[in-house]
Amino acid sequence: MRAGVPSCPNAKNQMLNFKPSGQVKKELGEHTLFGRVNVYTLQSLPEHIDLEYVIETVEERVPSIFFHDIDSIFIGYFKEFEERDVNAFYSDAALFITNDQTTDEDLLDDIVHETAHAVERMFPEYIYDHDLELEFVGKRKRLFQRLKSDHWDVDLDDFVQVGYSKDFDNLLYAEIGYPVLSAHTVDLFNSPYGATSIQEYWANGFEGFFLKSPNRIRGISPQIYNKITTLINKYK
Ligand SMILES: [Zn+2]
Repeated sequence: MRAGVPSCPNAKNQMLNFKPSGQVKKELGEHTLFGRVNVYTLQSLPEHIDLEYVIETVEERVPSIFFHDIDSIFIGYFKEFEERDVNAFYSDAALFITNDQTTDEDLLDDIVHETAHAVERMFPEYIYDHDLELEFVGKRKRLFQRLKSDHWDVDLDDFVQVGYSKDFDNLLYAEIGYPVLSAHTVDLFNSPYGATSIQEYWANGFEGFFLKSPNRIRGISPQIYNKITTLINKYK
């Protein structure tokens, strides 16, 4: 799954001065998450998608603190999907998620993934510190070595740049392809998409922590595991 590509985190909130505060909306959407985040379906989801189940599952698995900066979730079609070649994104305190979903799990993945991008804006300097960068670059270098020995024409310089690059995204997604990449990344990333950039590494790991297995994330991405558990303990 290719989900939203975030712009550079620019929020100034620091972990230490962050204070959760409840927000009450006067007009609620058709559904609400944690009784606060309005969920609007602007274009219909396929019949077999159970939005209520998806919302309940998010509430069960992800602590509400991570939705602090999200007021609304809009499900539908948005022109940015084409412009940015994504199927979901976070912007202006809202998640924008495609209604073109195959399974409940896909919708769940999109919501939790984009929530990770909202969280990175809440705690940018805490999340994107030197330790996370070292962990990510180490994995990228191992991936480079594996691809090189598998005879791919790859350049190390491209693998040590941590930010998003359209060319690098294309290399992974279109040239090498996720099926091949999976075999080389199963012990490095939650899924191949996590290799795209450090922001996608964070969002992909966050998704794995809450929707797959925290233990798996502890094993493959200890920095992501530590950051998530520290935030949960601090704000529970
Ligand atoms: Zn993303």
